Amino acid sequence: MSITLTAEKLTAARDLARVLTPGMRATLVTHVNPDGDGLGSEVGLVHLLRGLGVTATIANPTPTPPRFKFLFEGLPKVDRSDEAVKELRRADLIVVLDISDLGRLGMLADTVAARGVPVACIDHHVSPGTLPAGPRYLDPTAAATAELIVEIAMANDWALTSVAARALYVGIMTDTGGFRFSNTHPRTLRIAAELLEKGIDPEAMYLDVYAGAPEGRVRLLAEALQTLVVEPDVGLAWITVPPGAVERHGVTTDDLDGVVEHARSIAGIRMALLFREISQGRIKVSLRSVGDVDVAAFSKPFGGGGHVKAAGLSREGSLAEVQAFVLDAARGFLPASTPQVR
Ligand code: AMP
Ligand code: MN
Ligand code: MN
Repeated sequence: MSITLTAEKLTAARDLARVLTPGMRATLVTHVNPDGDGLGSEVGLVHLLRGLGVTATIANPTPTPPRFKFLFEGLPKVDRSDEAVKELRRADLIVVLDISDLGRLGMLADTVAARGVPVACIDHHVSPGTLPAGPRYLDPTAAATAELIVEIAMANDWALTSVAARALYVGIMTDTGGFRFSNTHPRTLRIAAELLEKGIDPEAMYLDVYAGAPEGRVRLLAEALQTLVVEPDVGLAWITVPPGAVERHGVTTDDLDGVVEHARSIAGIRMALLFREISQGRIKVSLRSVGDVDVAAFSKPFGGGGHVKAAGLSREGSLAEVQAFVLDAARGFLPASTPQVR
């Protein structure tokens, strides 16, 4: 096979495998509002761990969005997010996927911090880790955490079954925007090719994730797009989700995935933002960039993080206050980068 691993990665993958013993109970956790990579990585790893005789369960801080439920077919009682704290208390090992930060584990942060069992972490974020001790497999150059799980499986000669491959493919497909974003490296496609070799159907996964939308998702998009504001001189574009719109359309915040891409798709835009109220007085901002603009660096002083071209932050205040503050900071941040010609 054409995928080679560095000596450091081989050591890290084998160190991780060493803590897995048959009969143990491993509980997998990802970040709040789990996405295709968090969930795909979890389900892929559940299948791999079962092959090793490890009892694997999933306990996430917020529920699985409907469009990813198909990943759990044939895995009854594996997703225990509705009793996550109880589940974490039964674990011999906790595996945190697609995040290195306690802060993004929501209401599970305290339990994970205080459990006293090893906490393994597999992640591709640039944000610094704040988890309790345990084996680490970290690579911010990977397109998706799912890519790293494939590497760990290869390093340890674990059998990649087609059900594991399907879940891991979903992780890579979603985090690369369907193999379009700049994180789609040759290595990413080689790993995706390995997964396709297991006989999985790429169109079926595309349809499950992107073409099974409830009507409300499209109506919510239509309403959100009405709010688009563009500042062409600075290269800024932003969209605001009207408060209450998600509930009114009978959908979930997962249905906002991709909305910010419409702002990024405008010629000359260098930073695109999506503002939405997550609770009374707390606003979430999703940031995407083009060219050399680093939105993870922009978000860091405000307690946010993520990747160079896709990051997020949340902040106390009204929609208008947070918008004014963040946009002002963005106007100050952008001239420092070289404008991109597209
Ligand atoms: P999103 O805008 O929610 O799609 O997230 C884009 C990227 O930013 C993902 O890699 C997230 O993990 C990261 N991210 C989102 N929100 C936050 C936050 N409040 N703090 C740190 N990182 C975040
Ligand atoms: Mn994620
Ligand atoms: Mn990811």
